[in-house]
Amino acid sequence: MIQVAPGRWPGGATRFAGVIGDPVRHSLSPALHNAAYAALGLDWAYGAFPVAPWQVDDAVAGAAALGFVGLSVTMPHKEAVLRRADQVTPVVRQLGAANTLRFERGQVAAASTDGEGLVADLRAAGFEPSGATTVVLGAGGAARAAILALAGAGARQVVVVNRTEDRAQAAVALAGDAGVLAGAEAIGDAALVVKATPVGMPLGAPAGDRPGGGPSSAPAADAGASLGGRCRPGQLVVDLVYHPPRTPFLEAAAAAGATVRNGLGMLVHQAALQVAWWTGEAPPLDALWAAVGEAASPVGSAIPPSDRR
Ligand code: NAP
Repeated sequence: MIQVAPGRWPGGATRFAGVIGDPVRHSLSPALHNAAYAALGLDWAYGAFPVAPWQVDDAVAGAAALGFVGLSVTMPHKEAVLRRADQVTPVVRQLGAANTLRFERGQVAAASTDGEGLVADLRAAGFEPSGATTVVLGAGGAARAAILALAGAGARQVVVVNRTEDRAQAAVALAGDAGVLAGAEAIGDAALVVKATPVGMPLGAPAGDRPGGGPSSAPAADAGASLGGRCRPGQLVVDLVYHPPRTPFLEAAAAAGATVRNGLGMLVHQAALQVAWWTGEAPPLDALWAAVGEAASPVGSAIPPSDRR
């Protein structure tokens, strides 16, 4: 643990990192990352930086020039930051989007930890995607990350259900041979259902409360509830939304007997993977969970907080 005299931190040797997005005011990432750095004893500090679309290139170049360790990237900049990337991971190449940049020796490396974070959270909840039949609702950025990660984890089938068919077709291709396009009737047949749409987020919520950012098309709570009502006992049902902790979709899925989980676990695990990539250390998951707090804990989980990996 670093020993810091009151009023002397951040100091001359403190290293910086942060999240860029628009908006980022309500981001939980500073709480997550700063808790992790403290637990690891690092003299690092992490802030939230609102960046307009026309400022993305300057923001990335500026952070690199200032010696930042890296940047988390949220909506709407996940594609735009690739203009500045010297190296990208295979996952970023397939998604065409990144949520993490690392600055090293004048180079910018880009990675995406969203899908891997989801799979890590599923495994922490006791669900193994390998060999499983899965359904992903949605075909946007979060859905694409989930589809690629579930297929990469060996899911037998990744069924994509989306409102707009051409986006669904582009997304299902990420699952290769495991990918299937279907309608909502497929929900009842899967072992795992992942909802990756903003449906159920309150319209009145500040935009920054939406991890995906941007204007929400969220009001279709009834539609969410009717999809949740198609779930059944024995399924794990995850809504990537975590504000509110329990959407009408999750309420309906729970009422139908499914085990339900919100998106907080994915948020924690994608941050943990960023911490691991930047520090080379095992991420302190208990500290990350403590940082986001019980108020936003995954619902329906029988797993005690200390075991939520
Ligand atoms: P996005 O790229 O804008 O995609 C949104 C998807 O939702 C699209 O497929 C869209 O369908 C669908 N959709 C939107 N409104 C709908 C409605 N009223 N009815 C049916 N489908 C609707 O957003 P995103 O970045 O993927 O984010 C999706 C959700 O995941 C957001 O709520 C975000 O907060 C959450 N998220 C959570 C985490 C986490 O760590 N927990 C991480 C990332 C995102 P069309 O293709 O037909 O437009």
